[in-house]
Amino acid sequence: MVRGAGVYLWDEQGQKYLDFTAGIAVCSLGHAHPRLAAVLTEQAATLIHCSNLYQNPWQNQLAERLAGLSGLDKAFFCNSGAEANEAALKIARRYFAQQADRRTEVISLPGAFHGRTMGALSITPKPKYHEGFTPLVPDCHTPATLAEVPGAISERTAACFVEVIQGEGGVHPVPLDVLQAIQQRCRETGTLLVVDEVQTGVGRTGTMFAFEQAGLQPDIVTLAKGLAGGVPIGAVLVREQVAGVMGAGSHGSTFGGNPLACAAALCVLDELAADGFLARVKAVGQYLGERLQELGSEVSGRGLMWGITVPDAQAFVRAAAAAGVLVTAVGDQRVRFVPPLILEREHVDELLDRLQALRVSGGR
Ligand SMILES: *Cc1c(COP(=O)(O)O)cnc(C)c1O
Repeated sequence: MVRGAGVYLWDEQGQKYLDFTAGIAVCSLGHAHPRLAAVLTEQAATLIHCSNLYQNPWQNQLAERLAGLSGLDKAFFCNSGAEANEAALKIARRYFAQQADRRTEVISLPGAFHGRTMGALSITPKPKYHEGFTPLVPDCHTPATLAEVPGAISERTAACFVEVIQGEGGVHPVPLDVLQAIQQRCRETGTLLVVDEVQTGVGRTGTMFAFEQAGLQPDIVTLAKGLAGGVPIGAVLVREQVAGVMGAGSHGSTFGGNPLACAAALCVLDELAADGFLARVKAVGQYLGERLQELGSEVSGRGLMWGITVPDAQAFVRAAAAAGVLVTAVGDQRVRFVPPLILEREHVDELLDRLQALRVSGGR
């Protein structure tokens, strides 16, 4: 790929694609967004990086904005989703290191994906991702079924990590009753509830965060992918009482919170705050969900994050690309649709027109 504009990408042969990958749920404002490009240009001409030896106003503003939006109190910035979850794991360890019971157990959900660094990998239960990398971080457990998760949380558990919709796992929303039961058990046992919003956060599901729709009050929220519209960034949002165990020097990141990435994230948040933006994500997303019934079965998702089941996901991805549409496989029979959040109804119609040959039902 050599160029992008809005919801389209062009490859070096000049072939144009309708982009339903958005760089894996990253390019929230689409490609070459004029305001984001202007913000980045201006920021590059002002200050790109100064390290955390010094404060910079963009990092402080971004922390304040995210705190206000999430209801959490403190933010730590890093450069990716895995790093955000890694920081969350360290915060949970340290929180209990300062209590009488030095809990180290971490529970994650079957089908979860939290990243590829050693800690994040240890709470990502997919055996294929572990091949050749064991031993992993000890005391990380994943029950065999979602229903068993609440019961697995005990007074030994430091943290439970959840995704409201499992993205890499196939775009499967975790049932609300399971999420509620997990939250309930976390409260009863004093376990920290960590919601991984790396993929679902920042407007992807039609609200700023997916946890709002699930009635969750997390202790820690991790963000990354769409937050800065394509510029690498990660963030950990933490409740005051938990954040208090971290002090200057207890964790760190050289690039984290750099003015360039923070200015980009502030621009994304400004756009999402614009009148009707999230309402449009919801409305266009609902239309997308309806029309995806024509392309596959077991259509599930929310906002502009959807998955469908097809006989052969790789074959579907290849056929779609040949028809000028980019989508990703998440599993042998699952295809994911995570377009830029600026998607319009007409782009959904274009998707269905281009994928005419892949339709499974008569359509409308
Ligand atoms: C992509 C993803 C990650 C990992 O993010 P990276 O930036 O690739 O490290 C973690 N959690 C979830 C839910 C993700 O979708």
